[in-house]
Amino acid sequence: MKEYEVVVGLEVHVELSTKTKIFCGCTTEFGGLPNTHICPVCLGLPGALPTLNERVVDYAVMTGLALDCEINRYNKFDRKNYFYPDLPKAYQISQLYIPICQKGKIDIFSDGNKKTIGIHEIHMEEDAGKLIHSEDNTTLIDYNRCGVPLLEIVSEPDFSSASEVVAYLTKLRETLMYLGVSDCKMQEGSMRADINLSVRPKGDKNLGTRTEMKNMSSFKAIEKAIEYEAKRQIELIEKGEKVVQQTRRWDEEKEISFSMRTKEDASDYRYFPEPDLLPVEISEERIDCLKNTLPELAEDKRKRYVSDLSLTEYEAEVLTSSVALSKLFEDTLEYCKSSKQVCNIILGEYMRLLKLKAVTAEDKYIDPKKIACIIELTLSNKINNNTAKEVFEEVFEKDTDPNIYIEEKGLVVVTDEAVVSKAIDEVLRVNPKSVEDYLSGKQKARGFIVGQTMKLLKGKADPKILNTLIDEKLSKL
Ligand SMILES: [Zn+2]
Repeated sequence: MKEYEVVVGLEVHVELSTKTKIFCGCTTEFGGLPNTHICPVCLGLPGALPTLNERVVDYAVMTGLALDCEINRYNKFDRKNYFYPDLPKAYQISQLYIPICQKGKIDIFSDGNKKTIGIHEIHMEEDAGKLIHSEDNTTLIDYNRCGVPLLEIVSEPDFSSASEVVAYLTKLRETLMYLGVSDCKMQEGSMRADINLSVRPKGDKNLGTRTEMKNMSSFKAIEKAIEYEAKRQIELIEKGEKVVQQTRRWDEEKEISFSMRTKEDASDYRYFPEPDLLPVEISEERIDCLKNTLPELAEDKRKRYVSDLSLTEYEAEVLTSSVALSKLFEDTLEYCKSSKQVCNIILGEYMRLLKLKAVTAEDKYIDPKKIACIIELTLSNKINNNTAKEVFEEVFEKDTDPNIYIEEKGLVVVTDEAVVSKAIDEVLRVNPKSVEDYLSGKQKARGFIVGQTMKLLKGKADPKILNTLIDEKLSKL
């Protein structure tokens, strides 16, 4: 059998997290009763005219800047005509001839290798509604999603494996989330990918005939679908048959793809310039302004955490794995300069509790001042590590004030030498056998005495003071 290589290009649709839709004032909120987030514009009723949401343009420019794209200062909308029941206008407003961003790139790491994936273009468009196929063979339509703003991010056909695709989507998702332009919730469909895939004999320059799998919304399904489809195409070619250009659907349960329709080309959609909207002109000032407000992205944060804050690569990686986690880390640093301690408590206790309660950092922000306070109490030896854990859990659960809590519960470490000394005397008095053992050379006995004293002081003795005083007393015996 010949050796083949897989060629994949991606079209990723991302729902933007603007408050309102792209061409009307309806809310973009997910959920809601069917057909309640609608108006004449997003329903395409006769005479209703679209008005472009400025924020959508801003988000598209920000995304373009973050992905190293050229921004087209002059771009425009086009009509993509097709009938589908969830598209009441029977056309979608999109961008074909002059999209807002072009010629960008994303660097990915896959299987230990760095690779640059080209971004062909990014364009703005509106989402369609949703068909709900019910069990009694009827189909319901919910138009709430009609007109929700989308960015379509089209890559070059630069991928040669499923793992590269996943690395790209992970990086893209991370970038969009740090930019704050989309929540990228794949399970709610706010990020979905169309996979264009073809195969060719290794070393061949020409592209083979491609198929497209639409609306993939989980990394696992994407990986499986790429592997399945590549195998299917290679088998066809090996049998001397032809790959047909078509749109295929991936069945997640059965893990097979099947043909939906022969794949359409741009000409099938009878695109023409959208007559109801003016071309978009973006000023230099606007672009500069957006450039200046771009937030620090995950990769830059990771580098800074390692070089400036002396964290390990691993720690930096975990902290930046979610926007909320890195925010909590940085917010806490405002009150406590010890980056290592802050990192330890967030990666340790905080993440342990998140996992235990099955919530995410996005759902559970806690007061950074209180985290800093716990670290402070530990560093100044006012509480020991076990107490710190207990207090952290209280803060996590009930937003308790650490200082009040340790006072009320009597958790402050005993540093008063007189108190510790008295406790040791008491332990020595009631354990004459241990004293005897110690004097006859049994080191173990010392450990027992330390333990008993600690127990008497309910675990709150300052270990340093305790050890010093015990040695003093034992040497005098
Ligand atoms: Zn509307």
